[in-house]
Amino acid sequence: MDLFEYQGKQYFARYGIPVSPGGVADTVEQAVAVADEVGYPVVVKAQVKVGGRGKAGGVKLAADEDELRLHAGNILGLDIKGHVVHRLWIERSSDIAREYYASFTLDRPNKKHLGMLSAQGGVEIEVVAEENPDAIAMLSIDPLRGLDLAAARAWVDEATLDEAAREQAAALLVRLYECYTKGDCDLAEVNPLILTPDGRVHALDAKVTLDENASFRHPEWEEFRATETEDPREKMAKEKGLNYIGLDGDVGIIANGAGLAMSTLDVVNQVGGSAANFLDIGGGANADVMAAALEVIHSDPKVKSIFVNIFGGITRVDEVAKGVLEALSRVTITAPIVLRLDGTNATQGRAILAAHLSDTLITEPTMLDAARRAVALAKA
Ligand code: GDP
Ligand code: MN
Repeated sequence: MDLFEYQGKQYFARYGIPVSPGGVADTVEQAVAVADEVGYPVVVKAQVKVGGRGKAGGVKLAADEDELRLHAGNILGLDIKGHVVHRLWIERSSDIAREYYASFTLDRPNKKHLGMLSAQGGVEIEVVAEENPDAIAMLSIDPLRGLDLAAARAWVDEATLDEAAREQAAALLVRLYECYTKGDCDLAEVNPLILTPDGRVHALDAKVTLDENASFRHPEWEEFRATETEDPREKMAKEKGLNYIGLDGDVGIIANGAGLAMSTLDVVNQVGGSAANFLDIGGGANADVMAAALEVIHSDPKVKSIFVNIFGGITRVDEVAKGVLEALSRVTITAPIVLRLDGTNATQGRAILAAHLSDTLITEPTMLDAARRAVALAKA
């Protein structure tokens, strides 16, 4: 689960990581009230779970109430990379002498934690990694040994942070590591981590991803879950017990098995289409599951065609064919459906469907043919 910046900062604060005083606002009036409390100048920050808000006009400084009203009014409702801003974080503006980057994340192949620290923060770390990889000091951390102050001091030296920032940054990194581990994060990123002209080091941004596998340890995460804006399609799929992930394309996908579902997305992409979703119906390709899958896909107004890709193994294709027909008798689907049925009892399965084929219920012999057909229908 990804947190909003303001939630990430609240999370940081629990572990003693310094952040600026501020508050959330859903309206211009609330923004003014927060600013009156923390004092001008303030920063007005769009709360959306996507990076690069600054560049997109979602982070603005306001010296007084007039400026605040202007920026808050403009940012509320702003669309940042498809995320509409409903909430602002207003905080006391900081003077910035230097911007750094710091993060902890999992290094899965090495079964370690990975710390990244750079004196070149404030810009996207991917850009730094590309253009100047030596500017990022990587630290591999053994989870059993953790990160102590001595190691953090050596790390800030290696990253060549300014002298004035090193001691505070080292202490902050130890706390950030504690937040990341004890707080069960998959990612804890601060960009920028700043040094102020008067010599203070603190977190100006917060990007936190919580590890859902640890949610049993964290009843307090409920408050974060409450503000999660869930995709309505994913919500519906979850209620129906389906393994569904919403995407942006127009070809709805139903496949059995996660591997085949992923290959299906690839093939649709390869022939110039784009998938509306990932959906693995597993071994349970019966009428109930098929009807539920079709209903969820059909609820997506973007879907122009549906590609059902089944490779029968333990799941027999004749059962799938019956399931499709029964599902179609229960739910009304207007988008054309292209089926590719192969594997166990494929011949029997195709025979069952033969009498029901039409302009909107089509079979194709191979996965590639079916993908081409579904993509062509979506574009028609
Ligand atoms: P992001 O663009 O989504 O990563 O949002 P950030 O929170 O990182 O803000 C983007 C940029 O706005 C930062 O890199 C800073 O340069 C600037 N910024 C944010 N807060 C302040 C502040 O308090 N004072 C000043 N002067 N600049 C700020
Ligand atoms: Mn940032």
